[in-house]
Amino acid sequence: MQRTSPSTSLAALEGRAVSAWFGSHKVLDRVSLTMPAGAVTALIGPSGCGKSTFLRILNRMHELVPSAALAGEVLLDGEDIYAPSRRLIDARREIGMVFQKPNPFPAMSIYDNVVAGLKLTGKRVSRSEKDGLVESCLSRAGLWKEVKDRLRQPGGGLSGGQQQRLCIARSLAVMPRVLLMDEPCSALDPTSTRRIEETIGELKSEVTIVIVTHNMQQAARVSDFCAFFLAEQGTPGHIVEAGPTTAIFETPQDARTSDYVHGRF
Ligand code: ADP
Ligand code: MG
Repeated sequence: MQRTSPSTSLAALEGRAVSAWFGSHKVLDRVSLTMPAGAVTALIGPSGCGKSTFLRILNRMHELVPSAALAGEVLLDGEDIYAPSRRLIDARREIGMVFQKPNPFPAMSIYDNVVAGLKLTGKRVSRSEKDGLVESCLSRAGLWKEVKDRLRQPGGGLSGGQQQRLCIARSLAVMPRVLLMDEPCSALDPTSTRRIEETIGELKSEVTIVIVTHNMQQAARVSDFCAFFLAEQGTPGHIVEAGPTTAIFETPQDARTSDYVHGRF
């Protein structure tokens, strides 16, 4: 089978003074963060401090909630993804998302799950191109060897960890420039978690990755940069401290960061 290699260039993502509301409830307050190209940025912090909301703002999913409002800018390689000239589908194509709970189309075959991602691109591809893409995406997601002999079986028949890697493969088929992952391992066992972490390490040379995780060891293992979010005493979520992961873990500037990363929260 022909291998199709990724053809997109690496892009940095930047949130500038991002604030968010659900109705009158302000949940994020002027969050500014640069997520460098070709690196893994981890968003860490206690539950309810707005990490998932921030992630959803980064690919324009937040605006789908009727009560949601937003201020600030999100720049993909310097271009505002919320500019009037940019369509929702452009953000969806360029910035993929993997969720906490693996959500492949369960009745659809493994093959068709990967190919389903292509619909977003609107591209017409030949059968052999599709075959090449399926192999390439499943390989990059670390799943090819396990499923190559059963591509026609339903995605829902795979284990949880395999389903999550299938979801990563489906996202990769769109050739995104950024991959957002919202606690992608929290529903998985330790072995599957390790496999996903290895995949993240391999993918970051071709796609910018932003991962939300509540697992500090995982943040330390997989990320190059970390941003610590906090929403204290009912205040909206904000970033207390952000920087290289080694600095956040070894020489944090704020006592709250130190307490959080060392499990004293
Ligand atoms: P985290 O991912 O850090 O746990 P979230 O971004 O999920 O935090 O939530 C931040 C705040 O926004 C919380 O107070 C949560 O209750 C609220 N929130 C999240 N989603 C919605 C929604 N769809 N409607 C109303 N409030 C929401
Ligand atoms: Mg969350």
